[in-house]
Amino acid sequence: MKKALLLFALLAMVNALAQELKSPSEFLGYELGTQFTRHHEVVDYYQYLAKVAPDRVQLNEYGKTNERRPLLLAYVSSAENIKNLENIRAEHLKNTSGEGNPSKAIVWLSYNVHGNESVSTEASMQTTYELLTTKSDYLENTVVLVDPCINPDGRDRYVNWYNETKNTPNNVDPNSKEHHEGWLSGRANHYMFDLNRDWAWLTQVESQQRLKFFNKWLPHVHVDFHEQGVDNPYYFSPAAEPYHEVITDFQRDFQKTVGKNHARYFDANGWFYFTKEVFDLLYPSYGDTYPTYNGGIGMTYEQGGSGRAGLGIITSIGDTLTLKDRIAHHHTTGLSTVEVASKNAQKLNDEFKKFYTNKNFTYKSYVLNGDQDKIDALTRLLDQHEITYQAGRQATVKGFRYKTGKTGSMKTSSNSLIIPGDQSKGTLVKVLFEPNAKLSDSVTYDITAWSLPHAYGLDAIATTTAVSGTAYAKTESATTNLSESSYAFLTDWNSMNDARFLAELIQENIRVRYNYKPFTLDGKSYPRGTLIIAKGDNKNHKAYLGTLQKVAEKHNKNLTPAQTGFVDSGKDFGSGWVQVVNDVKIAVLSGEPTSTLRFGEIWHFFEQQLHYPFALIDADYMNRVDLSEYDVLVLPGGWGYRRFMKEDTLKDLKEWVRNGGKLIAMGGSIDAISGEKGFGLNKKEIKKDSAHTMRPFDGSERERIKNAITGAIFKTKVDNTHPLAFGYDDNYFTLKLGNDAFDYMSEGNVVYLEEKQNKPVSGFAGSIAQKNINKTLVFGVEDFGRGSVVYMVDNPLFRGFWENGKLFFANALFMVD
Ligand SMILES: [Zn+2]
Repeated sequence: MKKALLLFALLAMVNALAQELKSPSEFLGYELGTQFTRHHEVVDYYQYLAKVAPDRVQLNEYGKTNERRPLLLAYVSSAENIKNLENIRAEHLKNTSGEGNPSKAIVWLSYNVHGNESVSTEASMQTTYELLTTKSDYLENTVVLVDPCINPDGRDRYVNWYNETKNTPNNVDPNSKEHHEGWLSGRANHYMFDLNRDWAWLTQVESQQRLKFFNKWLPHVHVDFHEQGVDNPYYFSPAAEPYHEVITDFQRDFQKTVGKNHARYFDANGWFYFTKEVFDLLYPSYGDTYPTYNGGIGMTYEQGGSGRAGLGIITSIGDTLTLKDRIAHHHTTGLSTVEVASKNAQKLNDEFKKFYTNKNFTYKSYVLNGDQDKIDALTRLLDQHEITYQAGRQATVKGFRYKTGKTGSMKTSSNSLIIPGDQSKGTLVKVLFEPNAKLSDSVTYDITAWSLPHAYGLDAIATTTAVSGTAYAKTESATTNLSESSYAFLTDWNSMNDARFLAELIQENIRVRYNYKPFTLDGKSYPRGTLIIAKGDNKNHKAYLGTLQKVAEKHNKNLTPAQTGFVDSGKDFGSGWVQVVNDVKIAVLSGEPTSTLRFGEIWHFFEQQLHYPFALIDADYMNRVDLSEYDVLVLPGGWGYRRFMKEDTLKDLKEWVRNGGKLIAMGGSIDAISGEKGFGLNKKEIKKDSAHTMRPFDGSERERIKNAITGAIFKTKVDNTHPLAFGYDDNYFTLKLGNDAFDYMSEGNVVYLEEKQNKPVSGFAGSIAQKNINKTLVFGVEDFGRGSVVYMVDNPLFRGFWENGKLFFANALFMVD
């Protein structure tokens, strides 16, 4: 009896708890909007919701960040739906193959992808709370997935910085320090990658872990919550042109439906907003486009504020923008989105099904040939996107040939990769693989080309009839036993995987050499840059063979034994034309003159791709560092070099190179070290457009873009006899990201645009910019005293996705003397 009573009392308590869900303000102990909530507190609140309302909230930790913060996904719906969650998901996914009869709307709300756009996560808590209380009727036919913070490392970086820095009480004066984040803002993730540029390339752990769950749900509606400048009114859908041509009429219309619903609330409150401007739908790696190319309605919402706004700030028209205002706006659009989805659940399901029927795009198959490492790297990406592929057969295929830009043919074999256009991810396949994305309008602030065959350096053909293949078998790890009697082992050098292999051998103290001239041995020819691992070089290494075997297996490298160093043709292994790879000690400049994104790409490259140590040297104290301790210094791209590169700094740098240092200068750093007092590269004189008199004010944006290259692919000429280009063909497709142009040098031009190579093979380039880049340098090496300067005008590490450029960077580190 007593026991039953106790149980009853307990149940009553749980019930009461469930009914009286604490609001974020009640739970956190301060009114939402009066403080920034740290990530662990956000996690606590969602855990609390899942604990007191387990019938309506399920919480899933889908991963961890680089700094070990949890990544969360909260499933929020009615008790009935949460009970049937797995069935609802299964039924929804059946729709991608035209089966099933789903009726629920699936809405995914993603908050705070940019860490310092910090209102988003605060708004997520209020929105989730209201969905569970006052707006619970929306949830009867709708499942809402809430990711409270896509980028916890960046957000906590901002929040902690703000808490440390702010006045008490906070100061709305825009000059106060709390409105001025430093060089490293909270926008990007740990490695300073912009996670809103990474949905398609998946270079970052946050994106990789999230996509697994995204693919399990493929939401009907996805919202990415952002912030923009303090003075901007709110932005919501419909998005601006250009729209990618694969976006359906329904997807366009629904953007409008959603926008009009938001407008109702904003109008009623007298809030300002704008639509159809700035934020376009083309580049596939955003949080709005990527879900759109997967059949959903992907939208970006932008509140005015960002890292500058703090808890409150005076705007340029003298109003005070508070965090509370910002929360109210994001909260309103969040709820309004779920409302629209709920009202249109059946329509969303019907249209989603339609999206997944065969679209009959022009290209039916994409067929790729090339180095196995590159094919493997591409299949790893395809697997994550759940794009299916096959192996080729012995045949000849005809179609559009990427390398020549014309119709042509290519022989296929079992090593070829075939990607069928007709598959459930067919739209995404078209977007990622087509030779040239059609631009409905050329004003976009991001790259306009990304075609994966060029990015991965593969020979490819797009065919207008389907090419049939066979089941694809993953390559097995090489397991040949290495024999002690072998004079040397030989292996190829032409991919990022090979660079990783070399980097590990160096760290295992295994000495490696490479050839400057091609040679033949045992009837096989070996190009320049072949790795030669010789017994004679490693006689003092205690575990030489075992270590080599282990590292080769780890990187799936086939080693060809050689019984002699006496080659059939070319230079013998003991020749001066065969050099030992140096165990280079590397420093990378960081801080103010560099761009965080450009520095971050290099940081991530060393730690997560190449796995090779480097010293991170901040510009603040570089002049106190003895650079002679380092063999290589990398200057990442950036726009602060003019101020940083004072006469003394440049003089010291030249002295260091003259004494044998190797300087790798990238992007914006090049300008600051060239010219009269610098090294030998010269900026190309920009020819002024003489026809700019009496230009009407309206349309000046159109005029400006004549100078612009925001990201387009160009075919370049390569001198692959130079160590900077070992492992490359005599052409390379570069992703050009700006109109910076440098004249050819007297020698050492390794990758360059020849006459008439100034038209992009894919993407947009303004007419004046095209003229300026004609006959200019892309990558080159200047010998200077006993050292050298490697110039990288284009950025082979951009966003970590241009796989085929990375070997240039590895060559600069290891192969260039
Ligand atoms: Zn943003």
